[in-house]
Amino acid sequence: MRGTSVLSEFNDHPRLKVRFGTGWDTCNYHCEYCVTDQPLGETSGATGSLPILTRIGQGITSPSKIAGKLSSIGKRLASAQAPPEVAEWSEEKYLRVIDRFAELPFRMDVRIGVGGETFINKTVVEGARRLSNHDNTFAVNLISNLSFSFAQYQKIFQGFDLSRVALVCSFHPTEIKDVDKWIETAVQINQIVDLAIVLVAWPPLMAELRANKARMEAVGLEVFVQAFHGWHDQEKYPEAYSDDDRALLRDVFYSQHDFDHMVDLKQPGKCYAGVDYVYVDINGNVSRCGTYKTPIGNVFKQLNLLQRPAACPGTECWCDTENLNTVEFRENYQLVGLNQHKYVRRQPSPATID
Ligand code: SF4
Ligand code: SF4
Repeated sequence: MRGTSVLSEFNDHPRLKVRFGTGWDTCNYHCEYCVTDQPLGETSGATGSLPILTRIGQGITSPSKIAGKLSSIGKRLASAQAPPEVAEWSEEKYLRVIDRFAELPFRMDVRIGVGGETFINKTVVEGARRLSNHDNTFAVNLISNLSFSFAQYQKIFQGFDLSRVALVCSFHPTEIKDVDKWIETAVQINQIVDLAIVLVAWPPLMAELRANKARMEAVGLEVFVQAFHGWHDQEKYPEAYSDDDRALLRDVFYSQHDFDHMVDLKQPGKCYAGVDYVYVDINGNVSRCGTYKTPIGNVFKQLNLLQRPAACPGTECWCDTENLNTVEFRENYQLVGLNQHKYVRRQPSPATID
């Protein structure tokens, strides 16, 4: 575990928030709405990484699911809002970047970004374990679909410094066989790491959104809702949310800020991306953020951080943690701990993130 003396040694270093785009994109779930277009099939045991079209035939369970998935993929490929390209996964490169983070003169707050499931890849887990033990690590932010048992997570977390780990668990009711058990596991995990649950506002799940959120909050879980970005029934979301949908989302969203950016696609304005937040790819290349990849160096060579917030080069910021870098966010909200998804409204005077 980290000692107080080590902590104080790094307290003087500036904090650097990082989204590390690992390129790991394989999942053991196959949600129809997945932004990384996971292959269709059974919800267990997938550890390979093959292109979707070659895997579609391996585990077909529902014709409507296949049609929905293919339609979603086709629409997304034709859309100007296709997810930004992510450099390809490599075990060796991944661990090299993780080890390099230990040498950077910052208090590192790293979100290990995956397009699949974190905990089905032993190397991804090993990197997270190493990162949690670096002297200069402030936080390791991870994501999981919570498809393992609590006992399995306990085993996976052996050797981690859990006092530095924050976890977001995404709730995917179309894939979960036993929802009661899933919530029970979340409650147990919440005892050992800083946990937040995310619910996706995919149109077919809207009817249960409020009840699912209330049910989880009733057992002490912190829950946030994420807007669906993509195509459903020939319509593009979030633009296609109805007025009733928007009223519901406004009610269940974590904050007005989240709603503005994720549902209303508010223009981002000036942003701290590149100042004390960066996106790092698996080759060590550093960009202001992962949405509009303005290059600002490489972790193995030079890091050319910006001196002050600058205008967003794009028109929308809807990555669920990157939109927290806007000047507007910092003026009105404050992160409160390890978890990049937990924040509170500032009262009453603005200040900057430490
Ligand atoms: S759990 Fe997440 S990564 Fe896996 S298929 Fe579902 S949405 Fe995609
Ligand atoms: S507002 Fe969002 S998209 Fe724009 S620079 Fe900042 S993080 Fe990137």
